[in-house]
Amino acid sequence: MRKIKKKTTTKSIKPVKKIKSKPKKKQELKISVGAAVLTPGSSIKHKTGDWRSMYPDWDKKKCTQCMACWMYCPDDSIPVKNKKRIETDLDFCKGCGICAKECIFGAIEMKKEKK
Ligand code: SF4
Ligand code: SF4
Repeated sequence: MRKIKKKTTTKSIKPVKKIKSKPKKKQELKISVGAAVLTPGSSIKHKTGDWRSMYPDWDKKKCTQCMACWMYCPDDSIPVKNKKRIETDLDFCKGCGICAKECIFGAIEMKKEKK
């Protein structure tokens, strides 16, 4: 004799448990709307060199201290000490390459970042 299977009713199906998700905490807004700089003179606090893909490699021996690179650097990343340029401040240099273009003595070569 054939056995007749019992029909499954909706009552026998266990309802799926609803997972209660916790409400997300509001994230603290760390930057201003539109990334506007609201405090004057605050650019020194924001190190902008971390997204650089190239960096200027300065050859001290070829440098004549003409200061062209210092004059053209749009980010003021070439510090001067005792009227002479010193090593590039890579915390702020964006790797634009302007200094390398302006140095007629070939003392600056743009190199790829290793990161
Ligand atoms: S432009 Fe070249 S030679 Fe002149 S200060 Fe800069 S690195 Fe030195
Ligand atoms: S690469 Fe651009 S930002 Fe960096 S030191 Fe040269 S001119 Fe300044």
